[in-house]
Amino acid sequence: MTADTGTSPKTDFTMPPGWIHRLPADDLDLAVLLVNSMDLLEDPPDRLTSVQWYRDALRTAGHADIAEGLHERDLDGLKELRALLRLLFSADTLEEAVEIVNPMLVRGAAVPQLVVDEDGCPGLQVAPTATGLEALAARLPAAAAELIAESELRRLGTCAGTPCECAFVDRSRSGSRRFCSDWCNDRAAAAAYRARRKAGL
Ligand SMILES: [Zn+2]
Repeated sequence: MTADTGTSPKTDFTMPPGWIHRLPADDLDLAVLLVNSMDLLEDPPDRLTSVQWYRDALRTAGHADIAEGLHERDLDGLKELRALLRLLFSADTLEEAVEIVNPMLVRGAAVPQLVVDEDGCPGLQVAPTATGLEALAARLPAAAAELIAESELRRLGTCAGTPCECAFVDRSRSGSRRFCSDWCNDRAAAAAYRARRKAGL
């Protein structure tokens, strides 16, 4: 059994700019980070050989509280959550998204709770006191479902920069985002330029 003290030293963790949009990251950003723990441009592509990569990602994204509650025994559950979120980001139709996300909401016990913040203002939060996988299994599908309810499906996407299949949330005003990061955008633009030159255009 792997030692799991929850106090592992910081690694040289980096993430491409564009994967999260602010610090601390919101729950949609955390969903993007989890899906993108499988990154076909990395070698090896799957960083979830343990929960360490995602724990580091959570800490870097300003969610040390969730990271502390994530243990090696949660690895299978975390991978299952990732697989379902990937399906949701790749869903082509609303019907498909409904079929994927509703069972996730039920299984994750994503029940909104009325909470009062430090300033005395009430608000609704899913799993407000949970950490680790329990928090993630409730909050990430809830955030995705809320976004779909507000903007249909077009704000959830996967990168057009082949072979990259990383996920992103399109927060642009025009709703025209196609790439997971500036890096993939530049890579695709360079490839298109080379193709045009080769074709003599
Ligand atoms: Zn990409």
